[in-house]
This record gives sequence, structure tokens and C-alpha cells, in this order.
Amino acid sequence: MSDCLFCKIVSKTIDAQIVHEDERAIAFRDINPQAPLHVLVIPRTHIATLDDILPEHEAEIGHLFTVASQIARAEGLDQRGYRAVINCKGEAGQSVYHVHLHVLGGRPLGWPPFPRH
Ligand code: AMP
Repeated sequence: MSDCLFCKIVSKTIDAQIVHEDERAIAFRDINPQAPLHVLVIPRTHIATLDDILPEHEAEIGHLFTVASQIARAEGLDQRGYRAVINCKGEAGQSVYHVHLHVLGGRPLGWPPFPRH
């Protein structure tokens, strides 16, 4: 998708601080980190939201979690713990419509992850 920000990171049209890449996924540091570790893991394929995942995407989406675990281990968080979360659409706060797994850690994260109103 030519107008998708994260597709531009996949194609290296725009820069990102890439921490991992392979044939199915790419991971880079969030530009506005919410924790000492805040990495986004994305599929190379443009999939807009969780609701757009098709059966043929399942291996690629599952792989995002394997990469998240590898990154957490590499950052020394496998014992301390970390969070992996995907926002889906408006009320969840999704702002970039290319599926991305947030990997957050390095500080206590709290639960629930949203303010009560
Ligand atoms: P979400 O709100 O779940 O859609 O998350 C989108 C995330 O992308 C936010 O945490 C942003 O800070 C992050 N983001 C936006 N633009 C960039 C960029 N160019 N490089 C890295 N992260 C970005």
C-alpha cells in the first residue's frame, strides 16, 4: 500500500530504528516510546487491522509473537516480563492501519492499561 506509513518502513522508503527483520516480519523502535522497551513488530504484508486477518495470514501473524519473544529475551526482559498488545480500530486507539504488535517493557506497566472514566 503506497500510502501506508508502515509499508514505507517495510520498503525502507522512510527510516526506522530496525531491531529485527526476516522474510515475514520487521520490528522497529516506536517513535514515541511509552516504556524503556517499546518496539513494534509488523508483518511485511499490508493487513490493516486484526479484523482483516485472513486464514492465509495466520502463520505470518503468529510469527509476530515469536519475534516479540526473541526481542524481549534479547533486551533481558524474559525473566522480568513484558507486554505484547495489538490495538484494533478507533476506541482501542489504533492510529496506523497496518497491523502492529506493541512490545513494551522495562518498567512496571500496570493493569488495566487505560484510565477509568
Ligand atoms: P497504534 O496507536 O496502536 O496504531 O500505534 C501506532 C504507533 O506507531 C504509535 O505508538 C506511534 O508512536 C508509532 N509510530 C508512528 N509513526 C512512527 C514511525 N515513523 N516510526 C516508529 N513508530 C511510529
